Amino acid sequence: MRANLIAGEWVEGAATVADVNPSDLSDVVEEFAVADEAQVDAAIEAATAAAPGWAATSPAERFAVLERVGLELETRATELGEQLSREEGKPKGEGVGEVLRASQLFKFFAGEALRVPGEHLRSVRPGVDVDIVREPLGVVGVITPWNFPIAIPAWKIAPALAYGCTVVFKPAEMVPASAWSLVEICARAGLPDGVLNLVIGPGRVVGERMLNDPRVRGVSFTGSQATGARVAQALAARFAKAQLEMGGKNPLVVLDDADLEIAVDCAAQGAFFQTGQRCTASSRLIASAGIHDRFVEELVERMRSLRVGHALADDTDVGPVVSADQLEQDLDYLTVGRGEGAELVHGGARLERETEGYFLEPALFVGTSNEMRVNREEIFGPIATVIRATDPDEALVLANDTEFGLSAGVCTTSLAHAARFRDGLQAGIVTVNLPTAGVDFHVPFGGTKASSSGSREQGRYAVEFFTTVKTAYVRP
Ligand code: ADP
Repeated sequence: MRANLIAGEWVEGAATVADVNPSDLSDVVEEFAVADEAQVDAAIEAATAAAPGWAATSPAERFAVLERVGLELETRATELGEQLSREEGKPKGEGVGEVLRASQLFKFFAGEALRVPGEHLRSVRPGVDVDIVREPLGVVGVITPWNFPIAIPAWKIAPALAYGCTVVFKPAEMVPASAWSLVEICARAGLPDGVLNLVIGPGRVVGERMLNDPRVRGVSFTGSQATGARVAQALAARFAKAQLEMGGKNPLVVLDDADLEIAVDCAAQGAFFQTGQRCTASSRLIASAGIHDRFVEELVERMRSLRVGHALADDTDVGPVVSADQLEQDLDYLTVGRGEGAELVHGGARLERETEGYFLEPALFVGTSNEMRVNREEIFGPIATVIRATDPDEALVLANDTEFGLSAGVCTTSLAHAARFRDGLQAGIVTVNLPTAGVDFHVPFGGTKASSSGSREQGRYAVEFFTTVKTAYVRP
């Protein structure tokens, strides 16, 4: 049983939660302590007590801690990547890749700790100087989802620590092993007690407690729209900051002049890799009339070659769906799509493998309209749709006709179309001849419309959320 970390102590809970392998339901990765409300309060208390000390550390101290975390993550990438694949179900290569990404995030923010931006100006009043400095926000809550069990915690916790905040971290209770390992590494890397606290437990208990505590000055959240709305409401009511990353219904537009091989690669990768369980997944494929049939044919061909299986098997391209609930949701959407008149041209079957797991064959609907629920709602599974567009103009309108705005892509060999879609797509992330998913660690990440709220995550833009601005007028 692995415990929670509160004020530098590993503490057990009244209950435990089992971390089960979705590739093999007989395999329990580990049992974890579940925090109760009193323990959440204790974690917030510890983070509050540690805040002034951590805010006063030198940039060099923060750099050193974060760099040590980054280095250990890199050294242990294979072991931790396999643990991640075991608990979440993404293939081993992607699990290891995600741990390396977490390592890079810590190293990047180690550097950022050294160059926290500020400004110095002369006042409009003679003899007065103005200093504009960024100060740590204080105690922040970090609430994360199950689909990136180590990268999302890393891209929130690393900047929080770099900019001098203390943290109460609540990972998704379905995938606590990666979160626990990350916290354990951070604790050994030299963080003072209370700077980073781990409270595993259900959102409606542990999460809610954090939302409502006035000592928590901001919450960085990634998850569903419904929970995001709840986080926003609770924090707005007490004038605290919220940084929300929620869903997507990301279009990938394939124009007549696209390189077909690139377009099929982008679609297969963006829609089905990581079992489609990415908020940046290419779930709406919009193909213009001249390429539509060839694109569908080639994509189905590619889908036939995708091997669905145990996340730790060497030849697996697509792992299982994460949980029974998620699988049920995916199967429901397959029924909904058929009911709306979409044609399922490939996949959608539950697959049997040697071990009992949530295996689902990647599925493709064609003949869909943008009004269908399968094109409006985030499915979060290995299910994509194709919408036929008459021309680039209509493709752009269809791409933007969604409440979401996280990521959007276009495949084209025309510079003019590329520029037009880059400017015209309403999304925080735009890709040209690349999948809508798969982003760099050193540049901002986030969306528009109902996908995101608050300032951007990652890159230098992360400073905005984790700091407040002080304007100092000084007459020497
Ligand atoms: P997902 O569909 O990815 O599971 P959720 O929004 O349900 O999305 O969960 C994302 C994170 O938010 C998880 O860590 C979950 O426990 C947490 N959470 C769920 N409900 C609440 C809530 N009422 N308050 C705070 N956090 C919550």
